[in-house]
Amino acid sequence: MTNRFAVIGLGQFGESIARTLADRGAEVLAIDIDLDKVELMKDDVAYAVALDSTDVKALRAQNIQDMDAVVVAIGENFEGLLLTTVLLLELEVKRIIARAANSQQRMILEKMGITEILSPEETVGKTVGEMLLHPNMRSFLPLPDNYEIVEINTPTRVVDQTISEIGLREKYNLNLITVKRFFDEKKGDKMEKVEHIIGVPRADTFLKETDIMIILGKSQDVNKFIEVNK
Ligand code: ATP
Repeated sequence: MTNRFAVIGLGQFGESIARTLADRGAEVLAIDIDLDKVELMKDDVAYAVALDSTDVKALRAQNIQDMDAVVVAIGENFEGLLLTTVLLLELEVKRIIARAANSQQRMILEKMGITEILSPEETVGKTVGEMLLHPNMRSFLPLPDNYEIVEINTPTRVVDQTISEIGLREKYNLNLITVKRFFDEKKGDKMEKVEHIIGVPRADTFLKETDIMIILGKSQDVNKFIEVNK
């Protein structure tokens, strides 16, 4: 059965979520109070409707309670976001994902019982900060309890060593999830560098200079590994 999602608030964030879902074949109901935003989306999603999501009748008329999940991506208008979220709780929507612009908003949403909270500004801010501090860091996913998943260029000192020689788990308390590696492949007449995953890494896997390591661990352990081996 096709997944059915509603996205409320079609700013850059909501629009991008709605388009991603629709591209992947989901049935998307895109909602915004602003008719121009709705017009821009209407050819790309199953349904695009202009309504005020703080109006429970309007929400009910769209059968919002039958969606697999509803994303509330309203940004600046926090009052609107709060009211909308309360109405969705009232309507017993199965899965509500709400946006918080800062930690205060996050706390309020948590107190309301919302467990899935997105903070695009915070996430991007943290990622950019980490990437600036560590030029070898290519992407960064913060996790609770100070854990993170990072993609890093293989630090110089561990190039040509095996995973077990590096002692990632024993010495650094880190888990190597996998490695991205570049291969020369023929595309038409030309050779191109194509990125692949080596799958589940083994103890005897060697790391090459151009490999990208994907690591899970505590933030301080990741930083230590990068610093010690650069
Ligand atoms: P982004 O960062 O995603 O671009 P933004 O910071 O511009 O978003 P807003 O413009 O405040 O955020 O909100 C995103 C969208 O939510 C806007 O298109 C706005 O029209 C819509 N919106 C705000 N309030 C409501 C509401 N009550 N009902 C429906 N849509 C709403």
